[in-house]
Amino acid sequence: MYGGGADDRGRMVPPDNHVHSQWSWDALAGSMERTCARAVELGLPAVAFTEHADFAPWTLPPQFVPPEWQGFFSDGVLTPPPLDVAGYLECLERCQVRHPGLRIISGVELSEPHWYPAEATRLLESTGLERVLASVHSAPTADGRGFTEVSDRYEDQAPGEVVRAYLAEIGRLIERFPRFEILAHIDYPVRSWPAGAKPYDPHDFEDEYRHVLRMLAGAGKTLELSTKVPLHPEILTWWRQEGGRTITFASDAHHPDALAHGFREAARVASAAGFRAGRDPLEFWRCA
Ligand SMILES: [Zn+2]
Ligand SMILES: [Zn+2]
Repeated sequence: MYGGGADDRGRMVPPDNHVHSQWSWDALAGSMERTCARAVELGLPAVAFTEHADFAPWTLPPQFVPPEWQGFFSDGVLTPPPLDVAGYLECLERCQVRHPGLRIISGVELSEPHWYPAEATRLLESTGLERVLASVHSAPTADGRGFTEVSDRYEDQAPGEVVRAYLAEIGRLIERFPRFEILAHIDYPVRSWPAGAKPYDPHDFEDEYRHVLRMLAGAGKTLELSTKVPLHPEILTWWRQEGGRTITFASDAHHPDALAHGFREAARVASAAGFRAGRDPLEFWRCA
């Protein structure tokens, strides 16, 4: 049996189902070893290392590229390196031996797998990674000749357009790539919402959110409750109303200190929206 599951006051802490370590190309300050030690300290029952598998090259203005990404950047294009699955799994096994009371779940965060179905399928079939998240991080560039990070689209698109285009892309992902378990950060563009714009309000996009949530529920998938920029509680209510049954908690930590950040508040929000922990702390939370 895996122990833990309760914090020092005896309250349940849900597993963190979306964490990055040094095996993700953009988490160079990450550490699987220190994240596991932190998980034990926090009393988490489980942690899933869902490292990035990014396939789309990004056309980026050089000023958007931090020094630590220079190794992957040339001629205005950032090409994310492939995930070193063998090194990652070896590290994960070592951590599991060191922390037998913590369930360490292997996983991957697939970016735009519907654009690269052969690559994504090959990765899943050759590795058997457990927790499979699907994400959209990219958008076509303004000239339609390449791809870029979603936040870059605020340069030439109205904020509302960026969100609508993002949700439409999520819809295409759900339609075209069924081999995933959890949809990550449905509100990702909100993380880079422009200062000075009319404040983000999910109600401005209620129809679009509901449409995607209905598709996701129909496909039998799970919605992630991200705490990086906390998911608006209303979206959980819509998820339930549109037939969604399960949720996971996700810090999307790229550093050990961010593990399970905001989970206590997120658990309160999820409970208020009608979701409950299962008897087994490793289970996804479900509608009561
Ligand atoms: Zn992501
Ligand atoms: Zn992530």
